Amino acid sequence: STSIMLFTRDLRIHDNPALTAACRAEHVVPVFVFDDAILNGPFAAPNRIRFLLESLADLRASLRDLGADLVVRRGDPVMEVAWLARQTGADRLFLADERSVHGTRRLGRLRELNVEVSAHPGITVVPPGDLTPAGGDHYRVFTPYWRVWNAARWRPIAKAPKAIRLPSGVTPESLPELADLTPGPSSPDPAPGGERSGRRRMARWLREAAADYDQAHDDLAADRTSRLSPYLKFGCVSPLELAKAGPDGFRRQLAWRDFHHQVAAAFPALAREDYRPRGDRWNEEEDALAAWRDGMTGLPIVDAGMRQLRREGFMHNRARLITASFLTRNLGIDWRHGLHHFNDWLTDGDIADNAGNWQWVAGTGNNTRPDRVMNPLRQAARFDPRGDYVRRYVPELADIEGSRIHRPWTLPASGRRASAYPPPVIDID
Ligand code: FAD
Repeated sequence: STSIMLFTRDLRIHDNPALTAACRAEHVVPVFVFDDAILNGPFAAPNRIRFLLESLADLRASLRDLGADLVVRRGDPVMEVAWLARQTGADRLFLADERSVHGTRRLGRLRELNVEVSAHPGITVVPPGDLTPAGGDHYRVFTPYWRVWNAARWRPIAKAPKAIRLPSGVTPESLPELADLTPGPSSPDPAPGGERSGRRRMARWLREAAADYDQAHDDLAADRTSRLSPYLKFGCVSPLELAKAGPDGFRRQLAWRDFHHQVAAAFPALAREDYRPRGDRWNEEEDALAAWRDGMTGLPIVDAGMRQLRREGFMHNRARLITASFLTRNLGIDWRHGLHHFNDWLTDGDIADNAGNWQWVAGTGNNTRPDRVMNPLRQAARFDPRGDYVRRYVPELADIEGSRIHRPWTLPASGRRASAYPPPVIDID
């Protein structure tokens, strides 16, 4: 018998239940389809496409080690699967169950083909919809979700296949070049894609940093979080493996991820519409928005975060909170503008996590205290007390010593080399 394994955002060999199940067949066709609908839309940010290409090259190398290859196609994944099934005589299709709008539609169309389709968990620890509150289709508040999530019985880890046999006559095709897929700038200092990089990072982080996660995860300069989010976004590491290995505070973050995914599955408009409309009127301030995007607001803690985003395609979680709060609460600018900019640059940019978190900060989401506003200067004093995070990302201010770096406008002009650094866009004091 022959099965097709359609990889999507589960680009790994380890703990991939769909792959493990597919490999029960005599022959397997592992395939990835560059989906034109995604490549031509707003989700094809250069940073993510680069990470995707590196992850596919790595997956292909692993599949070759197992005796197979990665078949690569471009177009409509449903049509490509139909072609491959006809060509190879495959009668079964395996893939990860994805509950995004696009993933749900794709699964529905695949089920109309002349193959038996089986969709497996693996993108989240607990699939969206598996845990529901009495009288509702999804959890709207995190804490009760976290309690049932943490107490739930999780599936066992899927065994990685030992060998895979391709049927004869399929041509794998080479991977496209980044420039063929997406124009536009990407970050100069990105994380390398792929399962092997992801597993190395996971192992090192669990060994060296996981133990003090609870104390250190909010310390901006220490940079002690796992930075595994891009690998989770593309499924290069398994969220379940991590949840089973990581400390409690870290597991809680993975539960946040699952939480947002189950909200997005139940409320597919999450990236467009207020989840809890509050009748907010937003300011249209083009100049302030441009300054925010460019990391030129004149608020060092905000600018450091925004510059980290462009430099690395990543931003520390605490900085995401501060920059998002500054945009929506201090500048009064619509959270959707912030979401789109994050989406353009974040390698881990994900509809559910990005929109869920933006709405949470903006007060239109699942926040139980939607009116709470963060003061960026107090945040800076608490989470970057010596100013080292700012010094790392805002070189114009690097000469200013200690915490004074957070208020350059209070320094005498001679004390700043910082003539290139702008005055604050608003009076924050
Ligand atoms: P760690 O602290 O090591 O946490 C481990 C993992 O838990 C992360 O890799 C991530 O998968 C998950 N996680 C942690 N916090 C959250 C959270 N609040 N929501 C969802 N998952 C979480 N995360 C994304 O993966 N994609 C996004 O597009 C995204 N957009 C965000 C936008 C805003 C405005 C904010 C405030 C947060 C956003 N986050 C997003 C959540 C969080 O900031 C990142 O997941 C985290 O910074 C990634 O770094 P890490 O892997 O070192 O995290």
